This record gives sequence, C-alpha cells and structure tokens, in this order.
Amino acid sequence: MRRTTKLMRRQSDDTETPQQDAPTPEPTAPQDAPPTAEERVALGRCLRLRDAALAQNTRVQFLVEAVRKLGCDPGPLESFVQCVSASRQSMAMVGGFAAHAPGQRDYAPKILMVAEHVPNQAIFDRTLSHELVHAYDQCRANVDWNDRRHHACSEIRAGSLSGECDLSQEINRGRFGITKHHQACVKRRSALSLALSGQADPDAAVAAVFDACYADTAPFDRHPN
Ligand SMILES: [Zn+2]
Repeated sequence: MRRTTKLMRRQSDDTETPQQDAPTPEPTAPQDAPPTAEERVALGRCLRLRDAALAQNTRVQFLVEAVRKLGCDPGPLESFVQCVSASRQSMAMVGGFAAHAPGQRDYAPKILMVAEHVPNQAIFDRTLSHELVHAYDQCRANVDWNDRRHHACSEIRAGSLSGECDLSQEINRGRFGITKHHQACVKRRSALSLALSGQADPDAAVAAVFDACYADTAPFDRHPN
C-alpha cells in the first residue's frame, strides 16, 4: 500500500472494546515472507467467503453495481476486494478501506478483509457492504478523508446502509431495548470508527452531520433494513 493512501479503520462486528480494536503494532513478519500454514488456511477461508459474497449477496452486488453506474471502475473484483493476514497489517479490525490518494485521477481504492477476523459469511457480507459504501462515496463525492466531517458522513452512511445496525445485530451485542436503536447504533459505531482512525472529537463530528448523512441513503431508495 502506498503511503499516500489512508486506511479507514473498521471495528470488529462483535466487539466494541476500543482496546481490542486499536491498531496492532507494526507487523514483525516481512511483507514478502511466505504465509505460514495457519495464514494459508485463514486466507483460503476468507477467499471463499469473498467469492460467496460477490456471487450471492444482493446488497454487495447492488453496491458494486452502483459504483460502476456512477462511472467508477473498481477493476477486477478479486483485486478490489482482498483478503489479508492479520499479522501482515497494522490492523485488528475485520475490514478496512484504503482510499486512493487525493487528486489521483484513477479510481483505485482497495477493500481489505482481515482473514483471521471474519468469523462467518454474515459478518463478511455486512463488513464488505460497509466498505463498499465508502467506495461508493469515494466515487460520488470528492471525499477528503482527512476532513473529519467528510469522514463522519461516510461512516454514518456505511453504518446505516450495511445492515450492521439492524435490530438482530443489536440484540446479539446485548443492546436490545434502546429507543431509536438503529440511529443510536449508527452514531455509536461511526464515532468509534472515527476514533480508531485518529480523528479528534469524533462524537461532535458525527453529531454535526448526522441528520443529513443518515437521511442520505443513496444508492438505495430508502434504508434497506
Ligand atoms: Zn467505515
């Protein structure tokens, strides 16, 4: 990954403990070292989850198509959506979005799924959908990922449109019974994503743009929940 790219950190779906989600130390294994046997198993499983998501998940397919309809070419999907080993990345999250550099003419973001951190197809699908909303926003608007309000807006949309805040997910996290649970969940997770990316004052950034960005459901006609 070029140094000019910025990785949008993405918290794990089944834990929200910031300490667990904080960036891991720099990898100790050299980037070009062959994968270990354990890494190969995890990567193989991740690739099968990826292929199933791309072939079968209607939300994933709709979002990929929406990026193309906007005029952005994500290229071959096996290059656009990559599985990486946790030990090779300074990231403890399920997935990440590597935005292309500001001013770069070609549309060249990458979605990185962390092989060891994706427990099942449902979490893979939701995480990939989340990252695809970032990819859509990168294509649609000239997102400045260093601007915390821009970043907050895309996190709100990704949290809202990916399915990660559907009621069943909140029940799994033991947060059942929250009034307006969906909005509360989106706010909480957006602020956490901003914090993990090192943005200052994440709650204020989310609050400042929440209503407008939550109401913006493109490319869906309405919240797909
Ligand atoms: Zn995100």
